[in-house]
Amino acid sequence: MTSTHPILPAEQIRAGQAPLLSPPVLRPPADLFARRAARLRQLADGHAMADFLRLCATLCDRQQTLLDAAAAPSLAPEWLATLLRQLAEGLAGQLPAPAQTALDQLTSLPPAALQTVASALSEGAINDDAPLAALPLLGAALQVQYTAYHRARPLPQPDHQTERCPCCGGLPLASVLTRGDSGHAQRHALCALCGHAWPVGRVRCLGCGNSRDLRYYSLAPQDYEPPEPDHQRPHQTRGAQEVEACGECHGALKQVSLLQDPDAEAGADDLASLALDLLAGEAGYARLGFNPLFLPGT
Ligand SMILES: [Zn+2]
Ligand SMILES: [Zn+2]
Repeated sequence: MTSTHPILPAEQIRAGQAPLLSPPVLRPPADLFARRAARLRQLADGHAMADFLRLCATLCDRQQTLLDAAAAPSLAPEWLATLLRQLAEGLAGQLPAPAQTALDQLTSLPPAALQTVASALSEGAINDDAPLAALPLLGAALQVQYTAYHRARPLPQPDHQTERCPCCGGLPLASVLTRGDSGHAQRHALCALCGHAWPVGRVRCLGCGNSRDLRYYSLAPQDYEPPEPDHQRPHQTRGAQEVEACGECHGALKQVSLLQDPDAEAGADDLASLALDLLAGEAGYARLGFNPLFLPGT
């Protein structure tokens, strides 16, 4: 009897010619920022940075309002300037004085000048002339713009791991572990800008592709030493928030596990685990990508 089974021969799968077996790019949920705000408030209780996390939650609420109201999203500098102004109006009286002063400077820039600052920021860089304390607010406006614009566009289907977001070219904010349809854990990188999440290897550095010399840091007692990598059981004894640190390129990427905590939300859990970035930084690892709501040095 001749087989007409549609499954690809094993040798083709081994040769990596089965892109449809990869999990798809995931769209951000319509209530992305509301979920982030709720998670931030949950994590703020008893947290050493509670005030910061609650301020971020207020900012995320405002982002959600603007995303809900986005009728004709575009990447035009004029719309970014409008979003930043609307964000600022919604936060009046709630910002620390230095941030409010910096925000006033930023909103007074003409759209083209604002776009120059935003272009640097979208690469995680800080423009020397920019009012630093307001840059996270510009990052928040950029997130609304990119999320609204790219949610309305067709989803790409990357057939190999990419370091940058296949939707907008953005850098990663963090990576997320979830349970896939097959029941196995799968991992996506979450875009810092447009909120889409693209499939990446479960145990593979996003910066250089290394899959062997990886360490995982989590918040644990001060004398904690990360265990030797175990490729048979890569995700045992883990917390919901970790940093994956690469021994090859010395890049570090936050990993947020919904397997460990179904309430986790990468953008929020990343902000609540900035101590992990310090830990990895002290060990000589540089963060891959960034979180627009927290820019070191601002
Ligand atoms: Zn993106
Ligand atoms: Zn690497």
